[in-house]
Amino acid sequence: DTVIVLFSRDLRVHDHPALAAACERARHVIPLFVIDPDIPAGNRLGFLAECLADLRGSLRERGGELVVRRGDPVAETMRLAGESGAGAVHTGVDVSALAHRRQRRLAAECERAGVEFRAFPGLTVVPPDALRPSGGGDHYRVFTPYWRAWSRQPRRDVLKAPGVVHVPEGLSPGRLPEPGHETYELFRGGETAGRRRMEQWLRHCVDDYADGHDDMAGNRTSRLSPYLRFGCVSPLELESLAGEAGDAGEFVRQLCWRDFFHQVTRAFPRINRDDYRPRGHEWCDDEHAAQAWREGMTGIPIVDAGIRQMLAEGWMHNRARLIVGSFLVRRLRVDWRVGADHFFERLLDGDVANNYGNWQWVAGTGNDTRPNRPVNHIRQAKRYDPEGEYVRRYVPELATLPKRVIHEPWKLPSGVPGYPAPLVSMA
Ligand code: FAD
Repeated sequence: DTVIVLFSRDLRVHDHPALAAACERARHVIPLFVIDPDIPAGNRLGFLAECLADLRGSLRERGGELVVRRGDPVAETMRLAGESGAGAVHTGVDVSALAHRRQRRLAAECERAGVEFRAFPGLTVVPPDALRPSGGGDHYRVFTPYWRAWSRQPRRDVLKAPGVVHVPEGLSPGRLPEPGHETYELFRGGETAGRRRMEQWLRHCVDDYADGHDDMAGNRTSRLSPYLRFGCVSPLELESLAGEAGDAGEFVRQLCWRDFFHQVTRAFPRINRDDYRPRGHEWCDDEHAAQAWREGMTGIPIVDAGIRQMLAEGWMHNRARLIVGSFLVRRLRVDWRVGADHFFERLLDGDVANNYGNWQWVAGTGNDTRPNRPVNHIRQAKRYDPEGEYVRRYVPELATLPKRVIHEPWKLPSGVPGYPAPLVSMA
């Protein structure tokens, strides 16, 4: 008997419930990834290609293979099931509207063909449908009560990587994506790189997280987000190892934010489009301002530094994301979706739940619509980048400015040659 394991955002062999269950029950296992040409991976394609090459390597070390196909994932999975005579398809649960629709279609096709279909946990620490508020409703709208329930929820066991994976003979493995897509120095894709980073982080840095995570110039966060995005690292294993490694409470709380937005997205799949802004609120349709923001040319150093970090590295510090996002929606009054779409395109960790969930939170338009969170952008800049190091690193035009004016170059009587005047007055 044969089981197909359809990979998507779980590009790992450790703590992989769908793969582990297949290896336990079946004589033959076919690990499959389908590249869907209808989903543009943007600047994430290079990272994805590295993830797939690494996964193929790990499966081959275990006597297995990663079969790669191109096309509609449902049609390709069913075709392979027909060719191999597979009796079951295993996959991981996912929450975006697209993933959900695809999974429903796959389940229906499997039923029609008499193939068993099973979706396994693994995307989050606590499965997205595991917790229901006691007061009613199908999900938590507000973080703090979710965090309380999440902390108390029992965990499943972290699973070992399978020792061997037996694939049936005669399968053509298929081509990986061509190399040569945009990649970023700081982030090599794949489980091997992700586990190495996780181990270093847990050994040396997790204890410093509570004090250091808002230091924008300091490189004091894990930078594991792209690896969590593609499932190169298991969030459950990360949580469990963090608990053993040190004083990880604040860090684990961030993993809970990730779970929180996944359970919101599951219940509210149009999270990336719909909003519930207060009645009468109009966004300002200012393409000139939006474009300056996208390019990191607003004339506000902390905003430009954040955007330019993202353009250069495929990643942005969380504090910068908050400042840059709130500047767009509160100062420029541009629709949050303009910002969220740009982030989604450029971030290696860009995913529907975390990106659009956080943007809705920043804009106060999501399902937690408490009127919110005024941010004084300059005060934040001085607090979290007190020496101006972050700005100097990403905005070379300002590299020689003294600390006194680094966040407010408009205070210099002649401005700074080559750097734009502020788009809006920051007085
Ligand atoms: P760490 O501080 O080391 O945290 C560990 C992990 O916890 C992260 O890797 C991430 O998986 C999770 N996490 C941390 N903060 C959050 C948060 N606020 N919400 C959800 N999960 C969190 N994160 C993404 O993974 N993808 C996105 O597309 C994304 N878009 C964002 C957009 C905006 C406007 C804002 C304000 C935040 C966004 N975040 C997003 C959340 C956060 O900024 C990043 O997860 C974090 O900066 C990643 O760096 P790190 O791995 O060093 O995080």
